[in-house]
Amino acid sequence: MLVVKKFGGSSVADAQRVMNVARIVTDTYKEGNDVVVVVSAQGDTTDDLIEKALEINPRGGKREMDMLLSAGEQISISLLAMAISSLGYPVISLLGWQAGFQTNSTYGAARIKRVDPERIRAELDKRRIVVVAGFQGINKYDDITTLGRGGSDTSAVAIAASMHADVCQIYTDVEGVYTADPRKIPSAIKLTEITYDEMLEMATSGAQVLNNRSVEMAKKYGVELEVLSSLKRAPGTKVKEVTNVEKMLIKGVAKDDSVARVSIIGLPDSPGIAFKIFSRIAKAHICVDNILQSVGRDGTKDIAFTVPASNGDEAVQALKEYCEAKGVKALECDTNVAKVSIVGAGMETHEGVAADMFGALSDAGINIQMISSSEIRVSVLVEKKDADRAVEAVHRHFLGD
Ligand code: ADP
Ligand code: ASP
Ligand code: MG
Repeated sequence: MLVVKKFGGSSVADAQRVMNVARIVTDTYKEGNDVVVVVSAQGDTTDDLIEKALEINPRGGKREMDMLLSAGEQISISLLAMAISSLGYPVISLLGWQAGFQTNSTYGAARIKRVDPERIRAELDKRRIVVVAGFQGINKYDDITTLGRGGSDTSAVAIAASMHADVCQIYTDVEGVYTADPRKIPSAIKLTEITYDEMLEMATSGAQVLNNRSVEMAKKYGVELEVLSSLKRAPGTKVKEVTNVEKMLIKGVAKDDSVARVSIIGLPDSPGIAFKIFSRIAKAHICVDNILQSVGRDGTKDIAFTVPASNGDEAVQALKEYCEAKGVKALECDTNVAKVSIVGAGMETHEGVAADMFGALSDAGINIQMISSSEIRVSVLVEKKDADRAVEAVHRHFLGD
């Protein structure tokens, strides 16, 4: 079998944890499998490096930032290779470019164009364990790029997809995917299975246990994903096309508190306004989530929408000139908000799920600012201070204590 294993920052945070990972990896190798291991930077290394850069120059440039951040993973791969070697097994570490990761040139959020796995294949043929730096690649200028925060999950899935691995195991600091963040909601339940679509909605709604791009890629290439603990040897959660074990209406509740709401008050109520607004936002490469437009009254209307918090100011900048020209009353960005979502394929065939969610929020005295939904998700925007209580109330309603 070809097994791809990925270990996140907390799983390799110190020497003891690195040795623990080495044992997990060599146990699989010992059984006669080919093993490729993807690792993230140790503990808070990536955050610390970002802080160091900001101290020196907050506008140091995205290319240099990627050069800096890729160093975190370089440390982990060499340390893990040394740990595996100390146990007496053949091993080699490879940086993203050595492992064949070709990306586009969007520094800080690069997309993988392809993985050329020849080198990895050659090393496996020598019966070596291959340790690959996650989160990084190289662009057409031979410059280092990074894939965006949490991107090592995507590195692992990309290798699994390009090499047709039998399984891709994502090891982390919890035992799998739960019905809510188990660190915040003690009654959260570990799921044995979840569909790609459900996991994608969960990840996009703020459950950072898997990076959303990794789930998207796993679905596209049919990679069997498994999320499990690096600290406790126990079965985790399988992410796959169809599940049959749990017939649950709701698979989980997620929170995203890094969102901003942009509101435009007093736009002319005439055709083409939404087009003008959102084409400017798209041109600035900002992803929009919830959109709310009021019913026109006295010749004016209001539009509000959410964007990632880090894009809030950019969104306002992109609209300022247009809004001034149209004489709007106000153009505001509010980061004091959070999005709370419920996800579950079961809601496709059950009516009243959204109403139930709103009821639970109402009972908890929480005001809903905006609502959006897909076939298998309902999201509400609430005040940031209410977000944890909202998750708790909704989780209790659908999934019990
Ligand atoms: P890693 O460093 O291994 O990549 P992350 O911090 O990115 O780990 O993701 C694991 C964390 O995701 C957990 O510690 C947990 O707090 C959080 N999390 C949020 N929502 C969920 C969920 N529904 N199920 C499991 N973990 C979740
Ligand atoms: N080290 C990177 C980060 O902290 C990538 C990852 O952990 O997946 O975002
Ligand atoms: Mg992660």
